[in-house]
Amino acid sequence: MHDLPKLPYAYDALEPYLDAKTMEIHHGKHHQAYVNKLNETLSNHEEWGAKSLEDTLQSLDEAPGGIRTALRNFGGGHYNHTFFWENMAQHAPGSEGGGGGEPDGALAKAIAEHFKDFAIFKETFSDAAVTVFGSGWAWLVVDANSKLQIVKTLNQDCPLSNNQTPILTIDAWEHAYYLQYQNRRPEYVENWWNVVNWDSVARRLADAVK
Ligand code: MN
Repeated sequence: MHDLPKLPYAYDALEPYLDAKTMEIHHGKHHQAYVNKLNETLSNHEEWGAKSLEDTLQSLDEAPGGIRTALRNFGGGHYNHTFFWENMAQHAPGSEGGGGGEPDGALAKAIAEHFKDFAIFKETFSDAAVTVFGSGWAWLVVDANSKLQIVKTLNQDCPLSNNQTPILTIDAWEHAYYLQYQNRRPEYVENWWNVVNWDSVARRLADAVK
């Protein structure tokens, strides 16, 4: 059984960049629905229910044909949203665990190495998020050669299924921003940088390359 994780902050913690109503519906309705459908899918497949979500998404090819698409959509939906909540925090750049600003340490170094500098990285990542056609996600991943890459996935597809380790993501589905921003996805993406929790990204990078 999978459970909806509690948000690591209050629904209004990301205001004014992401409003409380959007967060409440996104977490309490959309994410909950993925968890419910995942549990329903797994109810008759004990061996897959016993696997971790990461294992499941990394081995979709081995899943029975009858549940493979459901695991991909609902398992991905659960994993991606949990990941997204964790890589945001209340705007407090420079403070421990606060959102926004710029990364430092090994993460800053890795970004500079792969993208030349932070501004280029930010622009490239934003462009990926804005240009996801339809519903999907933009990601910063560590690939099989330990290189950082910016990738997009459609629907609820997860980089784990493509042999990549995600370390940062933004939800580019309309439900992530429409109440507050309507069709203005670029504005949502630009504001979202104010709540990126770089500490969580740095931790994921450290885990991915060790
Ligand atoms: Mn979403």
